[in-house]
Amino acid sequence: VSVEKPQDTWLVAAYACQRRSPLPNNNQLLTDALETLAEEAHFCGHEGRSLAFSRASSVLKALPRTVRRVQELDSLPCLGEHSKRVIQEVLEDGTSAEVETIRQSEKYQAMKLFTKIFGVGVKTAHQWYQEGRRTLDDLRGHPAQLSKEQQAGLIHYEDLNTPVKRADAEAIGQVVREAVNKCLPGASVTLTGGFRRGKPSGHDVDLLITHPVEGQEAGLLKKVIACLDQQGFLLYHSIHRNTFESLEDSDQEPSSHASSMDQYERCFSIFCLGDLPGDAQEGAGAEKPSRVRRTSGASRFWKAVRVDLVVTPYSQFPFALLGWTGSRIFERDLRRFAKREKKMLLNSHTLYHLEQSRVYRFPQGIERMRRK
Ligand code: ATP
Ligand code: MN
Ligand code: MN
Repeated sequence: VSVEKPQDTWLVAAYACQRRSPLPNNNQLLTDALETLAEEAHFCGHEGRSLAFSRASSVLKALPRTVRRVQELDSLPCLGEHSKRVIQEVLEDGTSAEVETIRQSEKYQAMKLFTKIFGVGVKTAHQWYQEGRRTLDDLRGHPAQLSKEQQAGLIHYEDLNTPVKRADAEAIGQVVREAVNKCLPGASVTLTGGFRRGKPSGHDVDLLITHPVEGQEAGLLKKVIACLDQQGFLLYHSIHRNTFESLEDSDQEPSSHASSMDQYERCFSIFCLGDLPGDAQEGAGAEKPSRVRRTSGASRFWKAVRVDLVVTPYSQFPFALLGWTGSRIFERDLRRFAKREKKMLLNSHTLYHLEQSRVYRFPQGIERMRRK
C-alpha cells in the first residue's frame, strides 16, 4: 500500500528555469482556464496581467500530480488571488463562469480567430474587430487590405492551425539540411523550439543554421531559400535582417520586443510538405500549389507548414540554441534570473556580466555540442 505524501510539501521554484518542466500536464483543466485568462488579457493589451496568468499556469504544469483541493496550492509561488479564485471554481464546479464567459464572448472569439492567422498580431486583429469584421470570409473579401504574409496565412489557415507532428518536423529538417549542405558544405541544421523540448507536436518548425568557420554563414540564407524555392518547397517566405523590423511589420507580440528580440537573419516561411519533393506541383502545371488545394480539396497529398529558419554565427550559436528552445516563460525567467540573481545579461546572442563588464564565451561548450 502506498501512502500519498502530504501535498503541501510541493516545492516549486519561482523562476521557471529552476523548476522541472515535465511533458505530461497533470492539471490541464486548470492550466487551460488560466491560459484563456492570459490570452484575454493579452488581447486587451494588459501584458502584465497576461504574464501573471501565464506564470500561474506554468507553475501548475510543474506539479507531479493533479491538484484536488485549493489548499494544496498554499506553498506554491506565482499564484495571485485571481488565479486562485479561478482554480477553486474549476476544482469545485468543473468550470469557471468567468472563463466560460470569455470563451463565449464575440470579441474573444474574433480575436482568437484573427490572431491565429500567420502575420496577424493583437493590434491588427483588434482593428479588424473594431471595423466590425468577425469571420475569415470578412477578410477574404478585402485582400488588398492584407499584407502578403496575411494573405498567405489566410489561404493556408486550416493547415497552419493543424499541429505539426515530429516526423514532419524531422522531414523538413532533412530537406533544409540537404539544401544548406548543397549551398555550403559543413554547415549544420538544428531542430529547436518545442520539438527540442521533446514535444510530440507544435505549431511550427524552428531550425537554426550555422557553420563552424565564423563568417562562412554570411549570405547563406538567401542561397538556401533560392534552392528550396526552386525545388518547389516554398509556398511563402520573407527574409528579415532582424526581429525588430519583422515584428513591427507583422505586428507579432508588440509587448515582448525587449525580452525576446534578436538580431539574427531569419526567414519566416510556409513550406509545402508532400510525400515527395515537387509532388504538389504535379497536375497543376506552373500554378502554385495553393491552387491545387482549392480544386482538389481533401484528396490532396501535401500540406502547408510554418517554418522559421534562423542563421547564426558559430560563436553565438549556443546562445541562439538556448534562446530558441523556449518555452517563452522559461526564456523570460532565465533572463530575469540572470539579471536579478546573477547580475548578468542573457539574450540569444551573448552572456555578459553587468558588474564585471565581462563577456562569457563558450568554445568548449560548442565543441561538446558538435561531437554529439
Ligand atoms: P510551438 O511548438 O507551438 O511552435 P515553441 O515553443 O516552439 O512552440 P515558437 O513560437 O516557435 O514556440 O518559439 C520558440 C522559441 O523561440 C520561443 O520560446 C522564443 O524564445 C524564441 N523565439 C520565437 N520567435 C522569436 C523571435 N522572433 N525572435 C527571437 N526569439 C524568438
Ligand atoms: Mn516552434
Ligand atoms: Mn517559431
